[in-house]
Amino acid sequence: MHPRRAFLLGAAALPLAACGRIMPDVPDFDLPAPRCRTPEALTSFSTLGGAPLRYEVTGTEQAFDADPRFVEKLEAWADDWVTVSGLGALTAVSTYGAHVDKCGSWHAAGRAFDFGVLTHADGTEVSCRFDTWGEDPTRLALYWRLAASLAKHFNYTLTYRFNEQHHNHIHIDNGASGYEPFGFDAGSGTHVALLQGIARWVYGLEVPSDRGLGATLDAAREIQKANGITARLATTEGWGAFLDAAAARR
Ligand SMILES: [Zn+2]
Repeated sequence: MHPRRAFLLGAAALPLAACGRIMPDVPDFDLPAPRCRTPEALTSFSTLGGAPLRYEVTGTEQAFDADPRFVEKLEAWADDWVTVSGLGALTAVSTYGAHVDKCGSWHAAGRAFDFGVLTHADGTEVSCRFDTWGEDPTRLALYWRLAASLAKHFNYTLTYRFNEQHHNHIHIDNGASGYEPFGFDAGSGTHVALLQGIARWVYGLEVPSDRGLGATLDAAREIQKANGITARLATTEGWGAFLDAAAARR
C-alpha cells in the first residue's frame, strides 16, 4: 500500500511541476501572462501637428508607426493643444516611441505614444523630462498644462506620478476607453493624480499627494468655480472644460 500511496501523492504534485517550477519551458499558469496584442493596422508618421518627430534618446528625426486612427487622434490633440495653450505652432516633437512589439502594453497595438519634449515656434519647450529638471515650478506648470490637454483626448495619461519609468516621458494610450468619450473617474488613481498635479502646479493650490480624495475634489471645485464651469467633472463636457482651462492657464 505504501508505495502506491507515495505514487499517488507524487502524481498529485505533478500539476505544480507543470506550472513551470520544474519545467521552465511550460507557461506558469499561476501568474496572469502579459497580454500580447497585435495591431489592427499600422501607418508610419514622421510629423505631429506639422512638426517633425524626433527620437528623444538620439535627437534624430525619424518616422514612427501607430494605428492610423490613433494617429488621427494624436493630430486632433495637437490642433487642440496649439489652439488652447496659446504657445504657437509646434516646431518639434520628441518621443520615445509609438508602436513597440512588447506584450502587456498598448504600444503593441499601436495605440500608445510616449512624449518627450515639445518645442513651439516662440521657443517655449514643454518638457516631460522630470528626470532632468526635477522640481522646477515653471517646468512643472507647463508639464501639467500639457498633461491636462493630453488627458482630455487620452483617458490613460501617465505622468511622473505613476512610477519611475515615467520620470522621462508622459505615456498616453486609449486602451481602456477605446475611441469613446469619457469623463473624470474618481476611482482612477491616474485621474486623481492629474487633478492633484494640475491643482498644485498650474493653480498653486495645496493638495495632498496621496490618493486622499476629499481635499483634491475641494481644489477641483475651486478651479471649476474660478473658471465658471458648472458641468460636473464626471461628464465628458465637465472634464473637458476643466482640462481645457488648465491647459490654457498662463
Ligand atoms: Zn508608453
